[in-house]
Amino acid sequence: MTSCSARHPHRCASVPDSHRVPFAGAGHSSNPVLSPVLGSLAGMPSLKDVVDLVHGWYPPATADSWDAVGLVAGDPEQPVKKILLAVDPAPAVAAEAAEWKADLLIVHHPLFLKGVHGVAATTPKGRTLHTLLRADCALLTAHTNADQALGGVSEAFAVALGLGELRPILPAPEEALDKLTVFVPQDAAAPVRAAIAEAGAGRIGDYDFASFTSAPGEGRFRPLDGANPMIGTVGELATVDEVRIEVVLARDLRPAVVRAMLAAHPYEEPAYDVVELADPALAETGTGRVGVVAPTTLGDFAEVVKRALPETHHGVRVAGDPDRPVKRVAVCGGAGDFLLDRVAGLGVDVYVTSDLRHHPAAEFVEKGGPALVDVAHWAAEWTWLPVLAERLRAALGDSVETRVSAAVTDPWTMHL
Ligand SMILES: [Zn+2]
Repeated sequence: MTSCSARHPHRCASVPDSHRVPFAGAGHSSNPVLSPVLGSLAGMPSLKDVVDLVHGWYPPATADSWDAVGLVAGDPEQPVKKILLAVDPAPAVAAEAAEWKADLLIVHHPLFLKGVHGVAATTPKGRTLHTLLRADCALLTAHTNADQALGGVSEAFAVALGLGELRPILPAPEEALDKLTVFVPQDAAAPVRAAIAEAGAGRIGDYDFASFTSAPGEGRFRPLDGANPMIGTVGELATVDEVRIEVVLARDLRPAVVRAMLAAHPYEEPAYDVVELADPALAETGTGRVGVVAPTTLGDFAEVVKRALPETHHGVRVAGDPDRPVKRVAVCGGAGDFLLDRVAGLGVDVYVTSDLRHHPAAEFVEKGGPALVDVAHWAAEWTWLPVLAERLRAALGDSVETRVSAAVTDPWTMHL
């Protein structure tokens, strides 16, 4: 028996109640992401409809640059009635999709991440693709785009472990913004404001033409030889009533906005400055999650983790004193050792993730920081599948049937 054909004893098509995970925006037809799609879904959705829906929740643009997400196989026009969800596009999962006559397989891990020069059925990846194509089953990947999002992998993992008051360990970066401040003679303020707004400055959320103009002050200057002043005389000190205009702009608009301001400003040498704004790190999306649980001990919390996850041979490994109090918890679905330094400074009691190696884990624990709980990579990311199934059901109703794959694709098959 291969690892892929092993079956989890309890969790096949049905989803245990503990995994019916609530999250922001789930299942509400008022969700702005869903409404336009739902409007076009009278009857059975097409593959394109489902892909648009999934990409609305987990935008491909938020995936890491090295990642390969999106539609791997399938005709966007083909109808979709049955959707199978799995962590890995393993041959056993493809076989299950074909057997169940799924029209679409949605997976977390990409089938192809490196350069591909052939898809012969003599390789496991080629076999997966052949099996799916022969069964007329499309393949869609949502990987790092699904990790960070609301209703995504790390959130589902955190909620499955009972965490509340969630926020990201690493908030997703907000759009890079600049602030332009310019001093303008009072009577020229309106045209300068209009010019920079037309160039795109002052667009904040659902608002545009946003700016601030301060009460008038006095601007002073002395035009030198060679100057061609609009106000004042060469060689004489001039005083002008000026206002200060402040406006926020997307960083990539900086040259266009500054050029528009210079063109509209009446002065030969306007006084202005541009500063880069710091990211306030308020994003609700991002990498990993931090939250709180009812006060407990590390030993008892590890039992909660064990019960929350599908069973694997890997099991749950703990590094730390079992009697240590636990309240604040950090989690990251998938291989989370890249966040160890960050987690050490969060003031949490325990960090739950997967694939922790000897040296990073040992050094982390030696420093006396949070305890570590290491779970099977597959099991942690599996917690997202019931969430996605619920989202699809809420958005598409009875027009589709969803199923969480029964295949346990954790590679470890014995633990002695
Ligand atoms: Zn993963």
